[in-house]
Formats: sequence, structure tokens, C-alpha cells
Amino acid sequence: MTSTDPTIQRLSDMLNGARKVVIFTGAGVSTESGIPDFRSPGGIWTKYKPIEFQEFLESEEKRRESWRRKFKTDEVFRTAKPNDGHKAIAQFSKNGLVSSVITQNIDGLHQLSGVPDHQVIELHGNATYAACLSCRKRVALDIIRELFEVDEQIPTCDSCGGIIKTATISFGQSMPEAEMLRAEEETRACDLFMVVGSSLVVYPAAGFPVMAKRNGAKLLILNRDPTDLDGIADLVLNREIGATLAKITSIK
Ligand SMILES: [Zn+2]
Repeated sequence: MTSTDPTIQRLSDMLNGARKVVIFTGAGVSTESGIPDFRSPGGIWTKYKPIEFQEFLESEEKRRESWRRKFKTDEVFRTAKPNDGHKAIAQFSKNGLVSSVITQNIDGLHQLSGVPDHQVIELHGNATYAACLSCRKRVALDIIRELFEVDEQIPTCDSCGGIIKTATISFGQSMPEAEMLRAEEETRACDLFMVVGSSLVVYPAAGFPVMAKRNGAKLLILNRDPTDLDGIADLVLNREIGATLAKITSIK
């Protein structure tokens, strides 16, 4: 089958003709699931002065405040469902078209839509669970919330006594080394790098498309608004993400 829309057809041809595709996703993929772009003006996260990682480590009161905020804003993550964009990307993965999904998002919606865990590389962590900062043991948020709601008890690791934090990367916290390394390897090895829903302004993440391009990969950008890297891209689509990707899966 072919598409009557030549741009959609070209996107589909690029995707199907590539040897190794890496998809890089940003907030624009998840806004269609009701998750606000945390950097957007007026967003719930911009109301608070961010708690820096160092403050979180040093102050019990900052940790308490951080959990207070987490549970105040958590419903958006607990209730969000994958949208057509996530579902299309999961379909690409199922069809063997995509080798990995590098994401700036922290909502876990790629995994929820069916992309296997090992194919998702989370550059900014994950807001849907917590982990011990010392031994990395995962802790479910529900358990922490239950205790916190009683008397604002802040959690510590039951294995090693370490500090528990949501599994996101905070301001002042270094980028996750293993994930950055894997993302780099995948980026260098691909022949098609496809950006979906990222305005490509947050570094170091936004350096990946440039890296891919320098290594000879084709660069495809699907984002509602223009980005600073449109000039080096082989194909740019300024369109709604879910609807556009759904068209691709329907001609595949
Ligand atoms: Zn621990």
C-alpha cells in the first residue's frame, strides 16, 4: 500500500529502507497523553523552585518537600495512557523497524505501550517509581505514598538504609552514565535517526541528532514546531505526532 500524501510516503520509505533506526523522543510525544511539558511556562513544575540534587542529599526537610510535591503532581503520571504516537512507535518496534528509543521523557509510556524495556533508553530517568541512591533497589511509589500520607515519613532503603528518590534525574544531578553511553553507541551505529516531539534545546540530549548526522545517518525530524536542527535534517515534518505516525503504521 502507498500513501496519497507524498511526505508521509517519504517518511515511510525512509523508515522501511533503513538498516538501523533509532528514535529519539521528547515532551511532544507525551503532551498528547496529557503530560505537560515541564519546561513550558505556567506548567505545574515551574511553580516551584527546583530542589537541587545536592540539597536533596543534604537536607531531610528538602527530601520531605520533594515527596510532598511528588505526590501533589503525581496523578498526571499515574493516569496517563499511551497515545497514537506511542502506539505507532511500539508497532515499529514490534515490526523490527526500530532498534532503540532514546527518550527525554520520564513517564514510562513507551514501555507501557509495548516497547520492550531493553529498547528504551531513558536519559532523564523515570518518574513512575523510586530507587535507592546507594544500592539502586527499586521501590514502588504506592508503598512510599502510604507511609508518607500518615505522618510525612520519608522513605529509606530497607536493604541498605540509603536515601530513596524518585528515579528521575534532578537538577544538579549528573546524567546517567550507562544510559548516555548506550544512547551514544546506538546513535553512532544507526543509519536513520528519527526525532519525534523534541524541540532539541536541552543539551546534552540535543547533541545526539548532530552526532548521528556526523556519522552519516539520515536525520528525520517530526515535531509540531520548527527546531534549531531543521537545517541539517533530511526530512522535517511540522505536524501533530500521533496522527502522523498512525498514518505510517496504516500503510506499513
Ligand atoms: Zn539501598
